[in-house]
Amino acid sequence: MIELRNVSKWYGAFQVLTDCSTSIKKGEVVVICGPSGSGKSTLIKAINALEPFQSGEIIVDGISLGDPKTNLPKLRARVGMVFQHFELFPHLSVTENLTIAQIKVLGRSVDEAQAQGLRYLDRVGLIAQKDKFPGQLSGGQQQRVAIARALCMDPIVMLFDEPTSALDPEMVGEVLDVMVGLANDGMTMCCVTHEMGFARKVSNRVIFMDHGKIIEDCSKDDFFGDPDARSPRAKDFLSKIL
Ligand code: ADP
Ligand code: MG
Repeated sequence: MIELRNVSKWYGAFQVLTDCSTSIKKGEVVVICGPSGSGKSTLIKAINALEPFQSGEIIVDGISLGDPKTNLPKLRARVGMVFQHFELFPHLSVTENLTIAQIKVLGRSVDEAQAQGLRYLDRVGLIAQKDKFPGQLSGGQQQRVAIARALCMDPIVMLFDEPTSALDPEMVGEVLDVMVGLANDGMTMCCVTHEMGFARKVSNRVIFMDHGKIIEDCSKDDFFGDPDARSPRAKDFLSKIL
């Protein structure tokens, strides 16, 4: 579904990604972790073509992002993205947040978009909030709306960038529950998160990044079950967060 081949990226003279290669198969749930500043957000944004890269190749569903013929907005519409700070439109109601891109980007009718929006709002348990504005919701509720909004676009993969790290602790569980449900339904997911409980429960694979490099890329069982086989940096990181 997603393939990265030797992806490197620089911000000016600073190399933020070095030779990153990995692939994500359909239905796989991959967790990316690593210290702050290690390039996790940059990597995930590159997959969604939100960040350009200077060398290597990224292929999403058979389409190369670097190919000048690729219609990036069209591809981006099929890759769901959920951010740390929700990024809902504050001046639009929950229902409008869920329908605007379906109408403007996918060309769906208002009725069709609303039906789809309410279906996913129900799925994240927030149908009663449909006419509220984001500012009237808790952080956990806003993040669940953001997930529903991404799902409304019928994504082929969902990317999450630390979706629970801006939340008060009591709201983390409700967002993780939605993500676990998605994983169990077979959604292809790539999640930057330090929620190792989530990683243990539903991920297939764990990628550990440090200083812009993919240091570890292994099965969940190897990552958590065989600490002695891990790199010193991954071990050190795990000892701090577990
Ligand atoms: P992570 O998500 O793992 O915390 P990021 O991908 O956000 O890491 O950032 C990786 C590195 O790139 C950091 O050192 C950060 O300061 C730097 N960086 C991120 N965005 C920019 C930018 N727009 N310009 C310059 N440097 C940046
Ligand atoms: Mg980040």
